[in-house]
Amino acid sequence: MNFINFLLDLIFPKYCLSCLKEGTYLCSDCLEKIPLVDKFVCPYCGKLSFYGKTCEKCQKKFSLTGLIYATSYKNHLIREAIKLFKYHYVKELAKKLAKILIKVMKNSHFLTNNFSQPISSFLVIPIPLHQRKYLERGFNQAELLAKEIADEFDLNLRTDLLIKIKKTKDQVDLKEKWRFLNIKEAFLVKKKKEVEGKIIFLIDDVFTTGATLNEAAKVLKMAKAKEVWGLTIAKG
Ligand SMILES: [Zn+2]
Ligand SMILES: [Zn+2]
Repeated sequence: MNFINFLLDLIFPKYCLSCLKEGTYLCSDCLEKIPLVDKFVCPYCGKLSFYGKTCEKCQKKFSLTGLIYATSYKNHLIREAIKLFKYHYVKELAKKLAKILIKVMKNSHFLTNNFSQPISSFLVIPIPLHQRKYLERGFNQAELLAKEIADEFDLNLRTDLLIKIKKTKDQVDLKEKWRFLNIKEAFLVKKKKEVEGKIIFLIDDVFTTGATLNEAAKVLKMAKAKEVWGLTIAKG
């Protein structure tokens, strides 16, 4: 595998998406320059909130406990990097993208300031792909990010508890109200007992309308998860 990568690099050299430096798609200098969030907001209405907690008003309508994200999806470089990662199968970007989210979580002391529960109370769960999509793509981009987060904070990564049972249209092609309909009843929680009482970090690459994360959070809460936080690289 490494030899094949070596050959591929010779034939198709990589260039940094931003400064065109050779050898990587996102060099560490450019990664450093991506502006990270300096205030947290309710993911649904955008009002300032403590650590991105869903505000009281939005809690009545939506299921996520809150959302932590690293940067704005309006940032051109992050948008290009996420597209490359997701649609062009550039797995090596997982580490780099996860790095900026980890930085925000650490700098803001998100874990230590919000939770006092033992490590066993947490589960890191990626937004799953439908099995057919998974086979087509060969990997789940959210799972690669989730692995980085779980490794960094020594949390339990579980890819067997939340599955996608409905093959949905790509959310990118849909307007907001259709996104919520498209994703409705798409997820199923397995082994519900293992979810009960847990604090769950749901991982995805981008929060746009929040339809996907919200739907997944809804079924996890129905399975009696205590809290379900969205963790993403960017927010639209
Ligand atoms: Zn660069
Ligand atoms: Zn709100």
